[in-house]
Amino acid sequence: MRKKIVAGNWKMNNDSEQTDALLEDILAKKPEFTNAKIVVAPSFINLQAAVQKTHGTNIIVAAQNMHQSESGAFTGEVSVGMLKSIKVNTVILGHSERRAYFGETNALLAQKVDTALKHNLTIIFCFGEELADRQSSNHFNVVESQLREGLFHISESDWASVVLAYEPVWAIGTGETASPEQAQEMHAFIRTLLRENVGDKIAEETSILYGGSVKPDNAKEIFSKPDVDGGLIGGASLKANDFLGIVAGIE
Ligand code: PEP
Repeated sequence: MRKKIVAGNWKMNNDSEQTDALLEDILAKKPEFTNAKIVVAPSFINLQAAVQKTHGTNIIVAAQNMHQSESGAFTGEVSVGMLKSIKVNTVILGHSERRAYFGETNALLAQKVDTALKHNLTIIFCFGEELADRQSSNHFNVVESQLREGLFHISESDWASVVLAYEPVWAIGTGETASPEQAQEMHAFIRTLLRENVGDKIAEETSILYGGSVKPDNAKEIFSKPDVDGGLIGGASLKANDFLGIVAGIE
């Protein structure tokens, strides 16, 4: 059985008081009654407080990014060791905003993936096509390249530490969601790629999340598709009611 996961990417939102308040709100609503693993990704500066606040609960705290080097003269960056030292063991890599605004390429992401895996972090690896790719029917090629160049080099045993997050860029923060059928079509394609490149077992066991304008009122239908194992949520993860409404979409 694949893990069902709902992860909230808070992006550059919520100061320390707001982080505390949102976590309290989420915890007060008893999210333990779910089959899903729940992940939240606050900003770097609020990670440690979030880890402390969620200690002993079923909420996993993730970072939104990390540097590919273990240490060094990289002003303003955060290393894998720093994350581990505050008990953050999950990291989101390859989010489309990192790719678009911070120039993260597939090759750079391959290095980040290696560093994260070397230190036993779980990776939520994001990828997805832009609108122009879909309009020119190039979306399957783009997704395949992102996976081949950023991820497919890892060893078989490392796949247990990888969660995939398919996020079509045209659906992120736009209110435009991929239809459940479009999501399922791409997720099935990704699972076939996994089957052909890394084997049946890994293909069956790897969770593939969908991200892009998931809301409480569309989550259930998207999550009901056989190859969709949960979601990566941006805007709607900033309100406890909406986020847990989405979690409730997991059967
Ligand atoms: C995201 O940024 O990962 C995302 C899916 O955002 P939103 O849910 O706001 O579209």
